[in-house]
Amino acid sequence: MAFFPHRPGSIEVICGSMFSGKSEELIRRLRLARIAHQRVEVFKPALDTRYAELELVSHSDFRIAARCVHNAHEILAQVHDLTAVIGIDEVQFFDETIVDVCNRLANQGKRVIVAGLDQDYLGRPFEPMPRLMAVGEYVTKLLAVCSVCGDPANRSQRLSGGKDVVELGATDRYEARCRRHFEPEEDRQLELIHDRQRAMSAPRRPHGDTEPGTSGGQP
Ligand SMILES: [Zn+2]
Repeated sequence: MAFFPHRPGSIEVICGSMFSGKSEELIRRLRLARIAHQRVEVFKPALDTRYAELELVSHSDFRIAARCVHNAHEILAQVHDLTAVIGIDEVQFFDETIVDVCNRLANQGKRVIVAGLDQDYLGRPFEPMPRLMAVGEYVTKLLAVCSVCGDPANRSQRLSGGKDVVELGATDRYEARCRRHFEPEEDRQLELIHDRQRAMSAPRRPHGDTEPGTSGGQP
């Protein structure tokens, strides 16, 4: 903190559907901070626990190391005091505690940049993104291109596939669709959302922040 006595903290939210360039925009901002010799740290949710570390790679082949964490509090625990900029990709996969964590980091004078889906596969607001958009200073909403008609698209259409848990990077099973061409398949998509929630609520280290009214330990 002593090195950045006057730095105002902030939260920047980059949101949109799949294929709208959210990660690319996140990487672009992180790259500019790096060029300015600012200390940058990057995190992603660990849905796939085999990898503790990975890289975010932009189309221009800029690479930045990212750490996988099992919950939002691990980010707080791992961020270095001297870090000026924190990037969080796929932020929609965290529970609502990510909002408090982002606020605390911003209150410490850090610039927090998060990127994530703002709608789930039913076209509903994807918590915790709405809360992050409410508390953040800057919100950038990106649009993709509809795979059917070419219009601007802000929804993520799941294509035919199995009943797998939602995976990071499983982009071959999705398309960007406009409002007119978005066709949610309710049963399977609800199933996927529940799978994703189970994947995130059963980390190795419980953190006791499940939603009120949910019991956790199914099935
Ligand atoms: Zn369309």
